[in-house]
Amino acid sequence: MGHDHGHDCCGGDAPARVEQALGRLRASGLRVTEARRALLRALAASRVPLAVDEIHRRSGRGKADRVTIYRSLEAFEQAGIVRRHPLEKGRSLYALETPGHHHHHLVCRACGAIERLEACDAGPIEAGARAKGYTRLTHVLEVHGLCPRCSHG
Ligand SMILES: [Zn+2]
Ligand SMILES: [Zn+2]
Repeated sequence: MGHDHGHDCCGGDAPARVEQALGRLRASGLRVTEARRALLRALAASRVPLAVDEIHRRSGRGKADRVTIYRSLEAFEQAGIVRRHPLEKGRSLYALETPGHHHHHLVCRACGAIERLEACDAGPIEAGARAKGYTRLTHVLEVHGLCPRCSHG
């Protein structure tokens, strides 16, 4: 997806990230199946967040149908193993969560290119939520636009 795969957006040491994710899966009491391993491997090997169809394709179509993959992703998201990145129009992309690491994405709505935005200005917003007595805060923020190539195309 996208034309710019030059940036390491969400990547890293894939085998280590799979092991880390499997450990967190077990710690959360979730079942480790071969299909779930394949799903985590597909996510860990990708440098950008992936759509469900792409995860399905990359994790081997025979291992699980899309509904199963979607349900696993939902369970992983709730357990904090996978981060969901909502797109415009209700679609979502998924990436492995890296503990202690936090970033957002810039998504081209024409070609689907994704790159990392290092800055996160959600601190004051979360502080406001904390002041209202909320705990275990998370936030969702993706920035959409036209990439330089699509802007001039
Ligand atoms: Zn573009
Ligand atoms: Zn943030």
